[in-house]
Amino acid sequence: MNSLLQALSCTDGYDPNSLAVSRARELILSLVATVAGRERAFVRLGLDRVLAEDVIAPVNVPAHDNSAMDGYAVRHADLAADGETRLTIAGTAFAGRPFDGALPAGSALRIMTGAILPAGLDTIVIQEVARTEGSMVVIPAGQRAGQHCRRAGEDLKAGEPALKAGKLLRPAEIGLLASQGLVEVMLHRRLRVAVLSTGDELCSIGSPLKDGQVYDSNRYTLWGMLQRLGCEVLDMGVVRDDPATLEAALAEAAGNCDAIITSGGVSVGEADFVRELMARLGEVAFWNIAMKPGRPMAFGKIGNAWLFGLPGNPVAVMVTFYQFVRPALLKMMGAEPAPLPTFTVPCAVALRKSPGRTEFLRGRLFQDQGAWHVQPTGAQGSGILRSMSEANCFIVLEHDRGNVAAGEPVGVQAMDGLV
Ligand code: AMP
Ligand code: MG
Repeated sequence: MNSLLQALSCTDGYDPNSLAVSRARELILSLVATVAGRERAFVRLGLDRVLAEDVIAPVNVPAHDNSAMDGYAVRHADLAADGETRLTIAGTAFAGRPFDGALPAGSALRIMTGAILPAGLDTIVIQEVARTEGSMVVIPAGQRAGQHCRRAGEDLKAGEPALKAGKLLRPAEIGLLASQGLVEVMLHRRLRVAVLSTGDELCSIGSPLKDGQVYDSNRYTLWGMLQRLGCEVLDMGVVRDDPATLEAALAEAAGNCDAIITSGGVSVGEADFVRELMARLGEVAFWNIAMKPGRPMAFGKIGNAWLFGLPGNPVAVMVTFYQFVRPALLKMMGAEPAPLPTFTVPCAVALRKSPGRTEFLRGRLFQDQGAWHVQPTGAQGSGILRSMSEANCFIVLEHDRGNVAAGEPVGVQAMDGLV
């Protein structure tokens, strides 16, 4: 027995014929590691990629104390505790055009949002409550010391980490890096992932469909999910159910990629040679995962590439990708692992569920009288890709759960994020 499989077989509660979803995910995550290789790149190219080193803020943001509102900057000590205060307007400070004149006691400065707050002045009075009388401004009572001031470094402090290594860069981080004046960032290199479909019945788009054939859709959903993860996709096409062709394809993929994702051919009895071949070429475990959809799955290593042998059914491909491949690839990309957030909402209809497996129904979150509810998107067969297209969430029914009554809370994982 080879080392990977030996390591797996020694772990607690490892039963390849009935593996809980959480256990399978833990095993995968315990084995894959962040790939070596990093590169410095223009900040915009960092979008959807992972930071490879801490970014220490070179400057304070904001750089100076400044005003959060349009109004008047004053010394709080100059204001009467009750009743109005009259102050002389000494000048005006604009954003990008500081005031550098004198500010004797009893004076106020007309100030715009973002303008530097000169030393000594400590409070902003918004223009809506102030009244001017010639060159004077009249301030009503009740101003709080320090109000409407932004402090230097209150967003990011110079010398402290602005972002930590392992951060997946979203639009907010791209802007945050720019707010530091940074032009380039150190990134983990992109993952290279090979995708191939197995099955004699598969027809590639662009060719007419013959009797008994189905179009290969899995390579397209996988391509989409991998693009969203920022991976470089190597499309290896459809590989016929023929050992020599599949062996050549897997060997080529293993030589060029960090991960290989196949679909089809891993269920028992279906096309045993796929399993045989994977087992011969690398160290591959074949699992029956206690889940629906997506029971059979292969996981292991061929050469230096991690192999994810997903089931063939189009919905099972997507569910197993999100539950197992996505977290593994994120770890390989260098990202801090974070579980998919699961929220609890009432289920509008009753659901049948057998304890002993995790079920992922395709659901639709909807609002009714202001509150969110969920219901399944019609037929839930693992070949019905429309159920994914109509869904905006997964309804996750936990391993030990039984039937769900209408109105009972269920866990949901949203499919859509902010761009
Ligand atoms: P398998 O896991 O190979 O037994 O396939 C299970 C089901 O998924 C069969 O109905 C296949 O025709 C279908 N299937 C397998 N691969 C694909 C694919 N790439 N695109 C669409 N359907 C597929
Ligand atoms: Mg097949």
